[in-house]
Amino acid sequence: MPRMKPIFTAKHPAEAHLIRGVLESAGIPAEVRGDQLYGAFGELPVLPTVWIAAADAGAEVQRLIADFLNGTPAHRHQHERWVCAGCGEHLEGQFTDCWNCGTTRS
Ligand SMILES: [Zn+2]
Repeated sequence: MPRMKPIFTAKHPAEAHLIRGVLESAGIPAEVRGDQLYGAFGELPVLPTVWIAAADAGAEVQRLIADFLNGTPAHRHQHERWVCAGCGEHLEGQFTDCWNCGTTRS
């Protein structure tokens, strides 16, 4: 088994499974952990997380998730790369915010 890494914490199990579907449709094997525990601890809910192989984790995965959450077509600003003013991260054009530090594109 490859080393796994959590890349997304969902608000609820359905969201976690949606993200898993997005990743798997992009050819990235993913699994949801913690969805069976959701709500089992009363006042200490365990949020489900989506895990992928550590080797697959990176900007591409963050982009897929951000696109899904924002409902933004991945190809809209594909050629307009920008550099984050907050942390210097190089970002694909479809990001409106830096996935690394959260700074809004200026
Ligand atoms: Zn940044």
